[in-house]
Amino acid sequence: MLEQLPLGQVIMQYIPYSKQQITKQDIEAVIRTMQSDFITQGPVVTEFEQSICLYTGAKFCIAVNSGTSALHIACLGLGLGADDLLWTSPISFVASANCALYCGAKVDFVDIDRNTYNMCPNKLETKLKLAKKLPKIVIPIHFAGAPCDMQAFRSLAIKYGFLLIEDACHALGANYNQRPIGSCEYSEATVFSFHPVKTITTAEGGAITTNNENIYKKLQSLRSHGITRDPSQLTDSHGPWYYEQLDLGFNYRITDVQCALGISQLQRLDDIVKARLKIARQYQDILQGLPIKLPYFDSKNMSAHHLYPIHIAHNRKEIFCMLRENNIGVNVHYIPIHYQPYYQKMGFKKGDFPHAEAYYDGAISLPIYPELSNVEIKYISAKLNEAIVIPA
Ligand SMILES: *Cc1c(COP(=O)(O)O)cnc(C)c1O
Repeated sequence: MLEQLPLGQVIMQYIPYSKQQITKQDIEAVIRTMQSDFITQGPVVTEFEQSICLYTGAKFCIAVNSGTSALHIACLGLGLGADDLLWTSPISFVASANCALYCGAKVDFVDIDRNTYNMCPNKLETKLKLAKKLPKIVIPIHFAGAPCDMQAFRSLAIKYGFLLIEDACHALGANYNQRPIGSCEYSEATVFSFHPVKTITTAEGGAITTNNENIYKKLQSLRSHGITRDPSQLTDSHGPWYYEQLDLGFNYRITDVQCALGISQLQRLDDIVKARLKIARQYQDILQGLPIKLPYFDSKNMSAHHLYPIHIAHNRKEIFCMLRENNIGVNVHYIPIHYQPYYQKMGFKKGDFPHAEAYYDGAISLPIYPELSNVEIKYISAKLNEAIVIPA
């Protein structure tokens, strides 16, 4: 199949690794909200939250201003504090670990599975068995949009008494055991991001779903300064202006304008995931003859195909640079979190999580997003083939 590809000196516009899709309907929804009475703290935020509940099947949803804020207050809402421990995957964005530090807690990592690149349940169990101190929270990441083995994590959570937050920043639109990611069937809370590279966008934005009403109420308070006007929660009343600060909260609010975009995008979510799946299949067809490892493809659980991470045994850097020189915005997801100087200062070192490190050594994310054209897919595949065949 590769011989039919445009191998000549085609000049292409820069192709990013991911990109938002904005329609006329999205723009009209934003304009309508701009012209309404509320551009923040209005009814569209609630409407967006209800739409997420409807989509995921979760009872409650809190929309916030970023996925990072969502992780932070999800940890606080589950009671994470000083001296507590949180475990997550080293192959994620730094925010998945930083959220613990924001709460004064300590972080540790559980190595990934060699094939799925998700946190490995067996490694988790081994680490739990050997642990002097057990984690209060474990955050698995549905890496690249492919669901983790949540049932395995749930059994361990029950056995060892920890709480689960799903970092589903890659996985809105994915399914696990026939239920949408975000249903929280196997976790206390699920966190999403709506940054433009993610499945749907609100420019910046995030959300938490949960089935626990107490967590929901706590998160509502933490999102907005810990302030309440709910008469049933007040300790006093001075008059109709009265409010009380009961928690140390933040301003993590999302705006109605952003939520209008989010609602409009959410209506297309299934089509967006289908378009991403189609691209993943096209890559798979074209690339299967190359000496590279293609991303894990779960035939049971539907991925959201947020990333297309290939793994190359040799010359990753040279191949990466050749692709970039050809205007292909390849990327690497992720530099293991424990490699970051900030984490090295805490005592983590190279060698701590061998599977994560081996994955990182060969990882390249190829572009994947709904508007990526057939011609671009063929161009990327051809250039990858050239880069691999021509020894750097
Ligand atoms: C994007 C992302 C985040 C952070 O989300 P923001 O909205 O950018 O704050 C956290 N975790 C993972 C896995 C992500 O991909």
